[in-house]
Amino acid sequence: MNKNLKEQVLRSSGVNVLKCMRCGKCSATCPSYDEMEYHPHQFVYMVEKGDIGTLMKSESIYKCLTCFACVDRCPRGVEPARVVEAVRLAAVRQQGGNRLEPSDIPALLDDDLPQQAIVTAMRKYAK
Ligand code: SF4
Ligand code: SF4
Repeated sequence: MNKNLKEQVLRSSGVNVLKCMRCGKCSATCPSYDEMEYHPHQFVYMVEKGDIGTLMKSESIYKCLTCFACVDRCPRGVEPARVVEAVRLAAVRQQGGNRLEPSDIPALLDDDLPQQAIVTAMRKYAK
């Protein structure tokens, strides 16, 4: 377990993962559930366990739409979306760059793409 990485993710997310009671409601409401190898409740659990490297290597960090449905649904106010975002940010920082260049995006657009995905893509650039 990488303690520094866990501290970094907890600090940047501002989430208390210990509040999670593992009810799975966040994952049940997630519109990206079928696209994600690891689901929101697993992000919370795995960050608590310090298994963050596995999450950082997963495509799941790029599948989250940042819709915050999981945040609304959580009965414990855990805010799983912030955990997913913090892990993604840690991965981008470790890679030293964004996953895509802005110029790569137009070629990926099609009529079926949800508008939320486009808005989210714009948020996924390192600040
Ligand atoms: S909804 Fe909240 S309490 Fe339930 S598993 Fe998800 S993060 Fe944990
Ligand atoms: S913010 Fe991400 S993890 Fe949460 S419900 Fe939306 S797509 Fe799923």
